[in-house]
Amino acid sequence: MSERLDRDERDVDGTSTANADEPLVTVEDLEKHYYENDSLLDRLSGRDPTAVRAVDGVNFTVERGETLGLVGESGCGKSTTGETLLGLREATAGTVRFDGEPVAGLSGDDEKAFRRRAGIVFQDPFSSLDPRQTVGEIVREPLDVHGIDTREEREERVADRLERVGLSAAQRERYPHEFSGGQRQRVGIARALALDPEFVVLDEPVSALDVSVQAQILNLLGDLQDEFDLTYLFIAHDLSVVRHISDRVAVMYLGEVAEIGPVEAIFERPGHPYTQALLESVPRANTAERDREVEALAGDVPSPRDPPSGCRFHTRCPHAREACREEDPERFDAGSGHEAACFRAVDEHAYWESAPLESPEERAQATESDLGERDERTADEPSA
Ligand code: SF4
Repeated sequence: MSERLDRDERDVDGTSTANADEPLVTVEDLEKHYYENDSLLDRLSGRDPTAVRAVDGVNFTVERGETLGLVGESGCGKSTTGETLLGLREATAGTVRFDGEPVAGLSGDDEKAFRRRAGIVFQDPFSSLDPRQTVGEIVREPLDVHGIDTREEREERVADRLERVGLSAAQRERYPHEFSGGQRQRVGIARALALDPEFVVLDEPVSALDVSVQAQILNLLGDLQDEFDLTYLFIAHDLSVVRHISDRVAVMYLGEVAEIGPVEAIFERPGHPYTQALLESVPRANTAERDREVEALAGDVPSPRDPPSGCRFHTRCPHAREACREEDPERFDAGSGHEAACFRAVDEHAYWESAPLESPEERAQATESDLGERDERTADEPSA
């Protein structure tokens, strides 16, 4: 059965791409908060729950046929964003639309139709595959769950998907532990493509692999995107990987999108100091360059339990001013088709008249000297 025919069948089911000029995915003010100290015992003890703001007001679109890279440091909320927009985690607030329709609240046949159209490839190909199933069973499982075709046709599709990802149909009887890391990720990709989706979230799909294998998998993903007419959300912390595969890039910091735009603009003319710092921190060959890397992202990453006021990056930003501590910047046009959530993108902003804050290094030194003084005072105190 051809790919085209599969998608035409969905048209009959009323789930086709009816809004071809609209983005395939639209994310508006998406929030995902977790709560700590929220057990019955905590409540009986009078403790208030603590919100962990993993995703805190994220906005972006994914256009049909493109790859949007979602990049940021570990813990910035990018994987949670991917899982929440697929409905694998329940959003705290905000809206995700797929092909114009809200994803929240889908049930029954509508939810099944959405699951066929949107898939995911996980980071760790070993833990995401059931070790007790053969590779053939793993790839066939989504087809069984959705009752696609006859058993014979399902087996044909399994063989097709294994061959499309560079494995052989004969390997279907083997188990995941018999494969290398790269081969296991190929199995994960074959499974994600079993239902002939239109949209795939690739959650750090190469970060667990050797560098030489990463390039093979990235090239495979590019080829499959053309063959299957796919739209990707590519999540990664590695900027060079994101640059290789993305059409546009969204940079996340502490649960928010700091900057978004075409890949060349983001890498050649970054408009947000965080993006600039991330690019500076790409590992470099010589020692002097490596020292710059340490300077580039000075300061600790604040906790999502208690994010800084105003611009969340102000505690680490070398350009921070008083205005940054007081006001949360919206995303401004930073030229070249991209947007940055930074006052420096606006010529006429009160930011330029406000007083500079101490640099992250000065703040770190002040904290160290405070601690030193406190230690000295403690040492001078007479013991009881
Ligand atoms: S708004 Fe201020 S703190 Fe935030 S990135 Fe821009 S200059 Fe830095």
